[in-house]
Amino acid sequence: MYQEVHTHNIVERAYAPEVADLLRRFDRSAQAASGGALFEDFSAELLSFCSRDIMIMAPTGTGDYVYEHFGRDIARHVGGDRTGERVSNMPPQTARFTIACYDGALASGKPLYSIHRAVKTVRVSLWERLVLPTTSADGQRRLIVFSKPLHFHEELLTTVLDTSPAGIVALRAVRDVEGNIERTVIITANRRAAAMAGAPEGTLIDAEGRQALPFLADDTVWRRCLYVMELRRGDMFETRHAVDGREVWLQIALAPLGDGLVMTLTDISELMLANLTLQSRAATLALEIGKERATRRALSHEIGQREEREQELRRLAEIDPLTTLLNRRSLIEKANAEIAAGEARGEETSLFIIDLDHFKQVNDNHGHAAGDAVIRAFADLLLSQMRLGQDLVGRLGGEEFAVVLPRTGAREAQRIAERLREALHRTHLPVSEALDLQVTASIGVATRQPGEGFAAFVARADKELYRAKNEGRDCIRCAEGDIAAAA
Ligand code: GH3
Ligand code: MG
Ligand code: MG
Repeated sequence: MYQEVHTHNIVERAYAPEVADLLRRFDRSAQAASGGALFEDFSAELLSFCSRDIMIMAPTGTGDYVYEHFGRDIARHVGGDRTGERVSNMPPQTARFTIACYDGALASGKPLYSIHRAVKTVRVSLWERLVLPTTSADGQRRLIVFSKPLHFHEELLTTVLDTSPAGIVALRAVRDVEGNIERTVIITANRRAAAMAGAPEGTLIDAEGRQALPFLADDTVWRRCLYVMELRRGDMFETRHAVDGREVWLQIALAPLGDGLVMTLTDISELMLANLTLQSRAATLALEIGKERATRRALSHEIGQREEREQELRRLAEIDPLTTLLNRRSLIEKANAEIAAGEARGEETSLFIIDLDHFKQVNDNHGHAAGDAVIRAFADLLLSQMRLGQDLVGRLGGEEFAVVLPRTGAREAQRIAERLREALHRTHLPVSEALDLQVTASIGVATRQPGEGFAAFVARADKELYRAKNEGRDCIRCAEGDIAAAA
């Protein structure tokens, strides 16, 4: 239990303004009578102007004191008049402290000032006391005790309420004859609550709850308040309402109090705003990511399509449209690459130049379209006779073809040429549903000599073809040197 006792510098320590005056009067009275302040005179003087705040205490002689007078204001605060009672009736700690103070003042004959925590009082939290020792005419000792509340609980509570960053409102339920809550009355509301309600300070007290507090206008909020009051169970939730066109978010905590409730209001508008901003940013971001993904998908689809088209174009650029064999340009390109690779590996490469015999007559006899059909059919046959994935088969123009045979020496080349010529003999080339034709071809064969360029290589094969034509057509001529070298 908190307590202080002082015998010096009392005026400086005391809170009640009366203390200084009382001490002055005590000194004067003590000086007038040589044996200390005379009780009869001094008590009469004090009772005349501050009887409400003083007690007169008489020692019992058994270590206790009796109240001979109990000031009305003191009685009001402690809740009753104690005149005739003993100090030892108080709670033990307070009684011991009080008796020790009184004994000390009597023993010293000097004023004593004390502060102690109040017990059993509803409103007072601290008391201050000035104890003045006197002596009666009959020699009996008596104490005149000035006692004032130093601190009220309400003051504390009001300070706490008014410095709270949260709005706090206490409501009391007003019920109809059937016991249903009709309305509520605001018992207390702090400054912050008034600000949140948009009401001038102090105007909320005694006002009707739903009328004075805009956030109770909402039916859902009001119903939750009713539940708290009826079920006597706390609740907490968030709600929003408009104040001067501005949206205010509140977190409301409800706790039952008597037949009513206490609500604690926290403004979470900024928090909600920050939260909403974050959410909208997240949404925007997700949208942008989605858009970017779609764009990327479209782009990669477009790139894929373009690559396919380019591939197709490259393929078409390499192909002879009539026969789908390699065209002259790509045959030369690929032949050059094949020759270089063959030479690097020390392998031989051979070459056919093939020309259909008397082709002019096909055109003359059956028409140009039939000529085309013969060229196409011959190309198919040629392709079927050559080695897939090894030989390069191309059309040089007109009814003239070339085949590059990698990893192939002169003898093998001659054999393959022979096999081709025989196959052509056996084959009727389809021209239309009603017509097929047999044609012959002349073939010039050369095998590449070390270091020989492609043009010179073709020229030698061409020369052999010319020889085949001259020597009766439908035959194969190979460069003599090549065969000799092979042998
Ligand atoms: P040779 O045995 O001496 O080769 O006799 P040839 O009739 O085949 O003579 P030449 O090679 O000089 O004539 C080829 C003819 O082929 C000339 C041309 O009218 C025809 N020709 C050339 N290109 C095409 C073509 O793409 N389609 C068709 N239908 N005919 C073509
Ligand atoms: Mg020709
Ligand atoms: Mg010809």
